[in-house]
Amino acid sequence: MDYVAIQSSDKNRHLSDINMVIHEPVILGFEGTAHTAGVAVTQGSRIVINKTATYFPEQGGIHPREASEFLAKNFPLLLEQMVKDLPFGIEKIDAVAFSQGPGLGPCLRITATIARAISLFLNKPLIGVNHCIAHVELGRMITPAQDPMVLYVSGGNTQLITFLNGRYRILGETLDIAIGNALDTLGRKLGLPHPGGPYIEQEAKNGKNILPLPYAVKGMSFSFSGVVTAAQKLISKHEVKDICLSFQEYTFAALAEATERALSCTSKSSVLLTGGVAANTRLQKMIQDVASEQAADFFVVPKNLAGDNGTMIAFAGASMYKGNNFISVHNSHVKPRWRTDQVEVNWIH
Ligand code: AMP
Ligand code: MG
Repeated sequence: MDYVAIQSSDKNRHLSDINMVIHEPVILGFEGTAHTAGVAVTQGSRIVINKTATYFPEQGGIHPREASEFLAKNFPLLLEQMVKDLPFGIEKIDAVAFSQGPGLGPCLRITATIARAISLFLNKPLIGVNHCIAHVELGRMITPAQDPMVLYVSGGNTQLITFLNGRYRILGETLDIAIGNALDTLGRKLGLPHPGGPYIEQEAKNGKNILPLPYAVKGMSFSFSGVVTAAQKLISKHEVKDICLSFQEYTFAALAEATERALSCTSKSSVLLTGGVAANTRLQKMIQDVASEQAADFFVVPKNLAGDNGTMIAFAGASMYKGNNFISVHNSHVKPRWRTDQVEVNWIH
């Protein structure tokens, strides 16, 4: 166990010479649910190491077997670099956290195998982290948001999440594909590189005309596959930049409307935007506007930690460590369809 010394600067209270020693566990986190192999070491809110390798398919979308082979090849390389760069010995690691689900089965199994092996090797407890909750815990750790309404937007998931009565509850979610998946699918049809999200954002900045597209919000849930099909039909009839602008405006407006409804129903005092698509500045602006309409603070995770990474798994692992949420290797099977609201959250009171 390592220790962090915090020195008080409050001279009025005569504490300036007192070193408070706070016990913060060192957590090794492995992310590997789909396209990204992430290895990180954190201590409290400090990121000691954060290394990632991301798989880019040569053609089409993510192929689960190819993605899992990519993870199997890259985790050992990332681990090697991690050990080299770690400013202390690996024996200081207190627990090993890994993304146990949801995600692609072949990828989850590679990640779990590596995490189990390292946990046994170090003789340190194993923590199975829910990937969606990790995106939320990252935001709670590095932004001032403590009990926010969360809009989690990524390649595989799109959910409105908030904490209530011991669990993270899903107030709304996509009824078909995730917003990131929708952007990447349209990007491919438009001939843009993978992943399409950031390229669509760049194109949209030059767009001038908003073309009509379907708009689907059902209560606090939303749907995107019909919008992708309709946008595809505009290809070759309209300019790429206008298609991108229109697609963003319609889909992001649906996310903003559902977020506003969720905020007004719950009266939460902050909104947290997290997940890979949170890097989009147009989406940030729309959600920020909704937050200010509802007198709520707006927080967004930094761009370099918006997409999948090992740090978020280590941060969630640190929270779970405090609640003694350890699992045995025997009980560490992967959970490809693990839902956010199936996890008992005993680290928030
Ligand atoms: P994640 O699954 O959380 O790692 O997020 C990956 C997703 O984020 C992919 O679908 C990307 O297209 C999307 N993404 C990344 N940057 C942006 C951006 N600037 N605008 C929209 N989508 C983005
Ligand atoms: Mg993710």
